Amino acid sequence: MKQILVIAEVFNGRVKPVTRELAAAALDIKIKQNLQQISSDIHIIVPSDDPAAEAKKIAEQTGMDVTGLKIPGLKAYASEVYLYCLDRVIRTMNPSHVLAAHTSQGRDFAPGLALGLNAASISGVNCIQSHGDDLVYSRSVFDNTQNMVIRPTPDKPVVLTLLPGVFKPAPEKPEKSGRVDIQEIVFTPGSRGKGRIRHRRILKKPCENQALKGAKTIVAAGRGMKKKENLEFIFKFAECFSSSAVGASRPLVDMGWIGYEHQVGVTGAVVAPELYIACGISGSSQHLAGMKDAKLVVSINKNPAAPLFSHSDLCITEDILEFIPAFLKKTEAGESSA
Ligand SMILES: Cc1cc2nc3c(=O)[nH]c(=O)nc-3n(C[C@H](O)[C@H](O)[C@H](O)COP(=O)(O)OP(=O)(O)OC[C@H]3O[C@@H](n4cnc5c(N)ncnc54)[C@H](O)[C@@H]3O)c2cc1C
Repeated sequence: MKQILVIAEVFNGRVKPVTRELAAAALDIKIKQNLQQISSDIHIIVPSDDPAAEAKKIAEQTGMDVTGLKIPGLKAYASEVYLYCLDRVIRTMNPSHVLAAHTSQGRDFAPGLALGLNAASISGVNCIQSHGDDLVYSRSVFDNTQNMVIRPTPDKPVVLTLLPGVFKPAPEKPEKSGRVDIQEIVFTPGSRGKGRIRHRRILKKPCENQALKGAKTIVAAGRGMKKKENLEFIFKFAECFSSSAVGASRPLVDMGWIGYEHQVGVTGAVVAPELYIACGISGSSQHLAGMKDAKLVVSINKNPAAPLFSHSDLCITEDILEFIPAFLKKTEAGESSA
């Protein structure tokens, strides 16, 4: 029997919610494999120095069997330790798939794990589909303008990192809990007598964006705003709506145009306002993951083929740098009110 293995995302000893998204994707793979007459089982692995309680919890939440991988002395994530211990436990399990989250942890250890297992490694997966007798995996490429479909060599295991926010989490409270077993693996350091990587400290995110979370309307700026000075239009535009806040795509934050607390997306805030107005945002899967639950989405983009248009209720094909000034002029003149 083949195993679909889920590596739980563990932070501060706790299993993170994204693990339930991985569990849902594992279930999807199992169903697709069953249709192809391949029988498989799902197994979640929880690496931690004290995994018993969290392993039990995720087994109850998902109904899936769980191995608590007890790694004495593992106080925080360390790639060297993960690779050593996961490799040893996974080798005994006949995996067809190993799933990890496309987070800083998963992106760090997944390729090395694949190398050790002589498996294919596919990162940033946003869709899993059947194609004939095979499963194929999609990921965004070329700055999210294209989707690439990958068919790995058959009969070899595949290590996947899955984009958070793309797969709907497995529903909680199944009829019965999965089984839990605990396996201990002691990390044996390298020849110099100690691990090469040591955990020092975790730097906290600058802040949580309470303003974004509570806003009824979010006016979000993207790279289409062209330069930092033009964000002034976005703030004025947002003022036209009551209970509003300004959001931004990640490149604007990376370029230092606006603070991280404004970032919407998989590595920023996840929001669900009544109205989301996207200004010059293309619609990458990473951005969509943060705003796809908005009740009404309005997109303003000069490119009629912008991917966000297919997720929008109202699509305005305009130059944003002409649209907002014209809109503000009209509202100032009292000809329109939002
Ligand atoms: C691990 C990882 C995590 C990430 N996390 C996030 C995240 O949390 N949030 C996020 O947003 N991104 C995230 N990204 C980045 C993401 O992949 C995209 O690069 C980003 O979302 C693109 O931002 P954008 O839409 O502003 O820019 P672009 O993709 O460059 O799009 C700009 C858009 O503006 C339009 N435009 C240009 N000029 C005008 C104009 N004058 N008027 C109107 N429209 C115009 C263009 O047609 C285009 O559609 C992440 C990437 C990775 C790899």
